[in-house]
Amino acid sequence: LGVPDIISLSAEHSQGIDCLTDQIKINLIKNNYINENKTVEQGNRINIAVVGRPNVGKSTLINSLINEERLITGLTSGITRDSIDVSWNVNGYSIILNDTAGIRKNSKVSDKIESLSVIQTKKTINLSEVVLLIIDGNLGIDSQDLKIAKLVVDEGRCLIIIINKIDLIKDLNSKIKEIKNRLIKSLHQAKGVVTVNVSAEKKIGLGEIFISTLNVYRVWNKRISTRELNNWLENAIEKHPPPSIS
Ligand code: GDP
Repeated sequence: LGVPDIISLSAEHSQGIDCLTDQIKINLIKNNYINENKTVEQGNRINIAVVGRPNVGKSTLINSLINEERLITGLTSGITRDSIDVSWNVNGYSIILNDTAGIRKNSKVSDKIESLSVIQTKKTINLSEVVLLIIDGNLGIDSQDLKIAKLVVDEGRCLIIIINKIDLIKDLNSKIKEIKNRLIKSLHQAKGVVTVNVSAEKKIGLGEIFISTLNVYRVWNKRISTRELNNWLENAIEKHPPPSIS
């Protein structure tokens, strides 16, 4: 039928939706239905989920990023039960930060509200483009963090690991090395994942979060043509031919 642009997507996993919306926008602009400046603004919307165990500093981080005491913080676990959306307007970008209740180890998720929080966190990851997995630098990475990281990667979202509370770490370099090694060893899919070291409370390293978010988001959103992909695949097969048996 000569349809010029065929877009492949997964509606359930929100993959390829950007290509679809881009095509719609391009056509709307071509036909003068909307003006181009407006679409640039809309293209700058990013949904970020902030996830991690209870008390790692999720709410403190969001408050520091938006420079307001919007979310209640504290050591009592379970202060954040529901997911909360907060707008973070920075450098012309409209970012929605979603603070989720911390996911605790399953065996400890005993009461009903807690298990609903876990379901909510999983939903939030699904609805976001970028996921900031917050880790308490002193405590390091545990199996629950790795499970969340795997979930994020499996869902095809951009993962950024935020190592928080660096103001409390004595030997910062070796601690960060230890965390990264554990991550690479335990979660092969997370190879090359971006990590950012911050102190949410002392507001150290926060600018790096914005820069890293934009960088990974751009890579995530990059469209690769079928020809480019096929060329890459042909080269890869040439270098590592599959066994001819069966
Ligand atoms: P959440 O449950 O993950 O939202 O954690 P909160 O944001 O409520 O923080 C839990 C506790 O950790 C609070 O007492 C915070 O003051 C403290 N906290 C958070 N970030 C930092 C940090 O960067 N440095 C230090 N020293 N304490 C922090």
